[in-house]
Amino acid sequence: MQVPPFSLSEQISALGTDLDEAVLNVLRSGQYIGGQEVGKFETAFANSVGASHAVSCNSGTDALILALRALDIGKGDEVITASFSFFATAEAISSVGAKPVLVDIDPKNYLIDLEQIELAITSASKAIIPVHLFGCPVNMDKLMTIAKKHNLKVIEDCAQSAGSKWNERFVGAWGDIGCFSFFPTKNLGAAGDAGAVITNDLKLAKRMRELAIHGMPRRYLHSEIGYNSRMDAIQAAVLNIKLPKLSQWISKRQLIAAKYHDELKGIDAIKLPQKTKEYKVFNSWNQYVIRVSSDSLESKDISINSMDGSFSSSARDQLKDDLAKNGINTIIYYPIPIHLQPAYKSLGYRNGSLPITEKICAEVLSLPIFPELSLDQQNFVCKTLQRTLSGNRNS
Ligand SMILES: *Cc1c(COP(=O)(O)O)cnc(C)c1O
Repeated sequence: MQVPPFSLSEQISALGTDLDEAVLNVLRSGQYIGGQEVGKFETAFANSVGASHAVSCNSGTDALILALRALDIGKGDEVITASFSFFATAEAISSVGAKPVLVDIDPKNYLIDLEQIELAITSASKAIIPVHLFGCPVNMDKLMTIAKKHNLKVIEDCAQSAGSKWNERFVGAWGDIGCFSFFPTKNLGAAGDAGAVITNDLKLAKRMRELAIHGMPRRYLHSEIGYNSRMDAIQAAVLNIKLPKLSQWISKRQLIAAKYHDELKGIDAIKLPQKTKEYKVFNSWNQYVIRVSSDSLESKDISINSMDGSFSSSARDQLKDDLAKNGINTIIYYPIPIHLQPAYKSLGYRNGSLPITEKICAEVLSLPIFPELSLDQQNFVCKTLQRTLSGNRNS
């Protein structure tokens, strides 16, 4: 049996002619950028997350950039975020001329360590970007309290967490601005690049809308330097077909995560992502990330590749290989922490700067999870893990 880490083919066939027709209609309409489908999606998406405004754009990365610009964050400013994320989170901060201040994570949920945020605040701090990584929501009650106390803006990176909630409220609707990606592998995926920002502040919405169209409040009047970051009508048409399915897809992801948890919880050699015991956590499980782990921080097993700086542990790599030999393909999100990326050499971080993040990079492995993953495939993943790891233990 082959188990891919992610697949769209079943979803595309299930959507069938609805999807085909939506795309063909756009093709035939001749309205390729902006227009009716885009407007319809913005309204539907804002409603779906309980925000007053949604502004579409070209990608999740652009969504972050538009949010930072709309809050007047730039040169001389610092923005606090987690080092354990996709690179774009920090890249967006640098793109507007500000400095990313990277902090460590809580190993239990892979999310920004709320205790570390206050230690990172300086007089130059302007905003916090909590990343709801892998679909797991950050504790937004605590985060908003910290932000208010220090008068910091909050931009939520919801790229991996469309449909996640903290304490009954959707992520993205807590802070000043929420940023979403519709990259094909996210919970709500377009057929290419697309993104959106949400906010309850009309002024911010208006500013982001203008920034996404060359800083242009009306045709050929440019009030500031902006971007070309519009959503294509074809992407909006695809998203309009998919958005009504999002909550049922998330339910399926949650069932798969629950099954993984039940079947794998007895295996000593791995640590599972925290089960949603806390009622405030509504995890959309964009990824199911286990750790092949030892408890000590100074594990002898961890090594750094001298060629590319990626972290690994022989136990994790062994498991990845064993699964691959059985047709189960897993992914490592993320092998190199942002603070040690070559692009960020100038920030001055070193090995050991953020020890939890570094250790986690060496230990994580993302198991296959997507709504159409069949029960047979789920069982096969669990059985193979059980067999492989009990084999290791006996030897
Ligand atoms: C995917 C992702 C982004 C960037 O989104 P794009 O649409 O690919 O530009 C930003 N942050 C996180 C955490 C992501 O996973």
